[in-house]
Amino acid sequence: MIIALDFDETYNLDPNLFDDVTRMFQQHGHQVILATYRHPELDYDPLFLRLEKQGVKVYCTDGKAKRPFLAALGINPAVWIDDNPFSIIKDSAWKHDSPELHAWRVEKGLISSGIEGVVAA
Ligand SMILES: [Mg+2]
Repeated sequence: MIIALDFDETYNLDPNLFDDVTRMFQQHGHQVILATYRHPELDYDPLFLRLEKQGVKVYCTDGKAKRPFLAALGINPAVWIDDNPFSIIKDSAWKHDSPELHAWRVEKGLISSGIEGVVAA
């Protein structure tokens, strides 16, 4: 079976734990993939490489609902491990230019806030 693992607030809460769990799934003959709302370039995280090295392919849906996104690629996970089950069936509520997405990227250190150059007089 295919197990789809989420990234934010799931895998990245305890990567060592999920690495162990992934290894167990794989030892039992199952495939683990990562499915995240993140954008593949704008929201890249070094942990993606760590996952790929373990044979966990990373799928970034860029805010698209995960199940239909993967189904279009012929991938149909039997089990989902995700802190936000709605992300499996619903597109992200954050549009590409939304302030929420911008604030999240700033919080994650993916982009600057754009106000670093402002110095108090
Ligand atoms: Mg999540």
